Amino acid sequence: MQEGNAHQANVKLKGITAVDGLVMGVARVYSRGNINIDPEPVDESRLPDEKKKFEQARKTVGLTMERLSDFADSRNDSDTRDIMNAQYEILHDPELEASVLRLIDQNSFRAEKAIYDAFQHYIDLIKSSEKSFLVSRLSDLRDVRDRLIHNVQQLTVVASFGKDAVMVAEDVSPIEVITFARSGVRGIICTAGGLTSHASIIANAMGIPMMIGVKKVMRAVRDGDTVILDGLGQNVIVRPDDETTSSYTRVIKWHKEEEKFLRQVIEKPSETLCGTKIQLQANIDFEDEVLNIDKYRAEGIGLLRTDTLLMNSGPITMDRKRQEEFCQTAYSGSGSGPVTVRLLDVGGDKLLSLKAREANPFLGWRGVRILLDRRELLQSQLEAICRVAGRYPGRTRILVPMISCLDEFLDVKKEMEDIQSKIEKRGVPVDRKVKLGIMVEVPSVAIQVDMYASHVDFFSIGTNDLTQYTLAVDRGNNLIASLYQPLHPAVLSLISMTVQAGEKSGIPVAVCGELASDPLAALILAGLGVRELSMTPRLIPKVKQAVRLHDLEEMKSLAANFLSCGTRVERMAIRKEWSDKYELKLKDMRAKTGAPQ
Ligand code: PEP
Ligand code: MG
Repeated sequence: MQEGNAHQANVKLKGITAVDGLVMGVARVYSRGNINIDPEPVDESRLPDEKKKFEQARKTVGLTMERLSDFADSRNDSDTRDIMNAQYEILHDPELEASVLRLIDQNSFRAEKAIYDAFQHYIDLIKSSEKSFLVSRLSDLRDVRDRLIHNVQQLTVVASFGKDAVMVAEDVSPIEVITFARSGVRGIICTAGGLTSHASIIANAMGIPMMIGVKKVMRAVRDGDTVILDGLGQNVIVRPDDETTSSYTRVIKWHKEEEKFLRQVIEKPSETLCGTKIQLQANIDFEDEVLNIDKYRAEGIGLLRTDTLLMNSGPITMDRKRQEEFCQTAYSGSGSGPVTVRLLDVGGDKLLSLKAREANPFLGWRGVRILLDRRELLQSQLEAICRVAGRYPGRTRILVPMISCLDEFLDVKKEMEDIQSKIEKRGVPVDRKVKLGIMVEVPSVAIQVDMYASHVDFFSIGTNDLTQYTLAVDRGNNLIASLYQPLHPAVLSLISMTVQAGEKSGIPVAVCGELASDPLAALILAGLGVRELSMTPRLIPKVKQAVRLHDLEEMKSLAANFLSCGTRVERMAIRKEWSDKYELKLKDMRAKTGAPQ
């Protein structure tokens, strides 16, 4: 049965799998804009908590406003800055604050109800006044009120999703995915979203199956319905009937067994059938993931994203000590392997509040561009990394994101040398062998890669952005998701050029984009000459398995086939042919080890 209304059983909806997996759970419909106020008073003992929630929300909203105002200032956007400043004043109006706290105290209101009523009082006053200039304040008042309530509700709602929840939403931001992950949800289903959007990447890192582009899901599902997220079949099933439920229960069990089988490969070396070593490293976004480095035997960290440090705080500033702590955890959790710390790469889709202010955020104020505009941020990051690097000599690589011209790199390099000298003078041990490299993710770099090769210590290819910028396809836009083709020959040619430049100048070339974790793509990349692949650790066994079952000649021939592929249809046909053969190899292996068929 297809689509259907909100009462039919077994409604099947098609979507795109952003994070593979198969889960059954209870749908929790999540909407960022919803403001439902619960008017019921709370028990007196909860009043201090309600006040705390209000104060906390006030702080968070204030920080967001400061950030937006700063951002507007740096772009000479005085309109936005004035609005933000006006709203900031409302937020800090002592009378408003006092009336919210009074309503909580005297009427035992929840924070959101007190905020709503306090603001409504002022809105009503303005509406009844004759002064037309005040009317323009109405939308500011409503905006501040809604931001506050939304914030308070997020604090309350988060805890109540429940462990068997499958979140259903129009769209989710990276921060929301983190929130979901921390409350232990089983899966995420969205109508919008992109395969390599940062929300999908974080869901992947957290191991939460996610489907995007499930167009009718908000209409078909009711909060509390049973849903099945079938990432393998690219389906969502709403209110499954008994037969579907029991067949999926069987499949879910089979997959758990299959995972166990795959775990056997973890202890085996990562090398091709013919013995070529392919280093498999970890992409790490959060401290919580560091344990996975050893669990999946990653050989060091190929990409330590530091962006999440900022997402958790307010304005674009980062506490140096906090950064040191984060790096320290990464070093101590990754044996003796390399640690590739990437400098802050926010902008694009990583700061929702900024996104709204730029017409083309992915072509805008992002990565190294922000760092060079905000020197203090760059300096604090470099200092934090260099301080920790000194404690672990020989292990550090610093990666600069979103480089599009050589000047940017040279500027960062100079800052790093200055920071090293500065801290050395203060007696801090410094590792002068720290490697400084760049992300190859903007075509201008790949096209002139030989020029960069004589300045940098290593390249790391970011296929997520390289694909988006080469093919002019927004990585987060599901309307054009089918055009997002990281194995397009144009992208592969740029990768191949980078590998050749690396070979010529003797500098390492890694791939740290999502492509590295697709087993077929990993073979193609190895066929092009890449010897370091970095990915979410839990995907390492799948890739290692594929590497171990092919020899280099097969990989080279796959790479050559894809490089000369004219159309998507041809690429799909080669993938199908490869995957059929690979399935047979795996079946053979399972039979030998007595694993489930
Ligand atoms: C990439 O662009 O491929 C990459 C690894 O960086 P991010 O996904 O964080 O932009
Ligand atoms: Mg990138």
